[in-house]
Amino acid sequence: MYGHQDAGRLPASYPQFFERSAGCHVWDSDGNEYIDLMCSWGPVLLGHQHPKVEEAAAAQRARGDCQNGPGPVMVELAELLVERVRHAEWAMFAKNGTDATTTALMVARAATGRRKFLAARGSYHGSAPWCTPRLDGTTPQDRENIILFEYNDIASVTAAADQAGGDLAGVIVTPFRHDAGFDQELADPGFARALRDLCDRRQAALVLDDIRCGLRLNGGGSWEPIGVDPDLSTWSKAIANGYPLSAVLGNDRFRDGASRLFVTGSFWLSAAAMAASVATLHAHQDEGALSQLEHAGNLLRGGLGEQAAAHGLAIRQTGPVQMPYLTFAADTAYERMSLFAGTALENGVYLHPTHNWFLSAAHADRDIQRALEATDRAFRAVRNQYGPG
Ligand code: PMP
Repeated sequence: MYGHQDAGRLPASYPQFFERSAGCHVWDSDGNEYIDLMCSWGPVLLGHQHPKVEEAAAAQRARGDCQNGPGPVMVELAELLVERVRHAEWAMFAKNGTDATTTALMVARAATGRRKFLAARGSYHGSAPWCTPRLDGTTPQDRENIILFEYNDIASVTAAADQAGGDLAGVIVTPFRHDAGFDQELADPGFARALRDLCDRRQAALVLDDIRCGLRLNGGGSWEPIGVDPDLSTWSKAIANGYPLSAVLGNDRFRDGASRLFVTGSFWLSAAAMAASVATLHAHQDEGALSQLEHAGNLLRGGLGEQAAAHGLAIRQTGPVQMPYLTFAADTAYERMSLFAGTALENGVYLHPTHNWFLSAAHADRDIQRALEATDRAFRAVRNQYGPG
């Protein structure tokens, strides 16, 4: 299996094939049903098979999807994104997140005429040779223009920028530290502001990789609440509620760089995914998706906290509630977390032992309650096997 689906990364009992999905429920190919706490690794924001999104995609597909050029819906979508995302003055579209991050680096390089990019050690920006987390199949040359810094450590960013010298094209960063295998860590607003200052002083591009967080934390860009606007931002996952689409948004300083690139793909202009995205953005606002996500997240986090305490287990819950994640303080190699995840699965809840989870606006109180019944059994299994602590 590919990337994160690699069998070694999940307990052996995890299903690999899924038959169908609806709302916050998924069914594997053996017919088992689960409450879905992974939401397809992020794309499913409003719930699987959201009626308005499905209707918009089907209507567009009936008119035409993969054609000689984009549909007018591309302009509608670009205008909507530019209206919603504060820093954005233009938009371009692709399919996967990796397309968007790679394109954003190209835009910055075209605009600045420089080569070097700074990225946080361990941050995931996709699976292209410049950023894939494993080096198999890459060459040292693929990485020679990437310089690493430590997330939330501005001194390490300054040192990396000094190393790039006059060749610094930009900095790419995620809205918070959500690296698989680690507790999540929110961005220090001072760190975000310092990145903005550094990019301004050195006339480099600040690229916010909002692929995982976009639309789950905020209606616009994820750093808008802390008052830091990037030059470029990259989006995918939730923007079309499961339809394949990604976007690069940018400000006017980078418009010319973007317009000079040759980037494309046979399917990048498909209209159905764009129609799904327009419907997703409208439903996100009209249906109050953000407050539902926060409500479900708080209910889950509160319940997990109480259960762990009742079982005498020390856990950490980190990151925003809309993207829950927990670890056991006493774990050394995810042994408790694997047992927890495997037991939750047996009891009808699909979550992940080493990667952040995702909630959707379709997680109603009764679904969270059902999930909590399963996690209570999972905590009991951990306590029975490992004892309290
Ligand atoms: N950046 C971030 C922050 C991501 O979370 C991901 C996907 N997990 C990507 C980039 C790459 O997106 P994709 O898998 O669609 O290429």
